[in-house]
Amino acid sequence: MNLIFLGAPGAGKGTQAEVVSEALNIPQISTGNILREAAKNGTEYGVKAKAAMDSGALVSDDIVIGILKERIAEDDCKKGFILDGFPRTVPQAEALDAMGIKIDKVIEIAVADDTIKQRVSGRRVCEGCGASYHILYKPSKIEGKCDKCGCATIVRKDDQPATVLERLAVYHEKTAPLKNYYEKQGKLVTVEGQEEVSETSKLTLAAVGA
Ligand SMILES: [Zn+2]
Repeated sequence: MNLIFLGAPGAGKGTQAEVVSEALNIPQISTGNILREAAKNGTEYGVKAKAAMDSGALVSDDIVIGILKERIAEDDCKKGFILDGFPRTVPQAEALDAMGIKIDKVIEIAVADDTIKQRVSGRRVCEGCGASYHILYKPSKIEGKCDKCGCATIVRKDDQPATVLERLAVYHEKTAPLKNYYEKQGKLVTVEGQEEVSETSKLTLAAVGA
């Protein structure tokens, strides 16, 4: 089964993609990773990607899709694959279709913005050693102090509510047309994220028939 996973930053898309990857025994393919790998291995498109990255340019959709195609042709993708983080735009989705990369289902992990904001703003990171905590799910023994080194734990700039809301707004704006695109093709399945990750996983596995 060939799958695409969509989800806002903080919605837990990566975690769910991992669960499905294990259950169906198909690889989870993140474009960032395969770009770096292809560049390192010097594949046809990898060489082009490296040239773009070295010059500081964005890697074009053509190159990303070329590398995806190379990756999907590998043996471990015979039973299927999960695309995690690609496509992000309608032109990218169209390019996938045009290259004959068949997608069976697009799984969207949907979590309300307010919930994501709450979850993310509960994250704390140690100023000293970088250990991570969460005030609800993984609190440090003494509030505001790292268990490991005793330094102060702080909220990262990226995790501050205003920043989170801004990133979510950008995500929705970019992803809405993409969701629409796959909905028209009858491939979009929305999984409502639950409070418990394991509950979300049950729904995700059911959505892919695993
Ligand atoms: Zn620490």
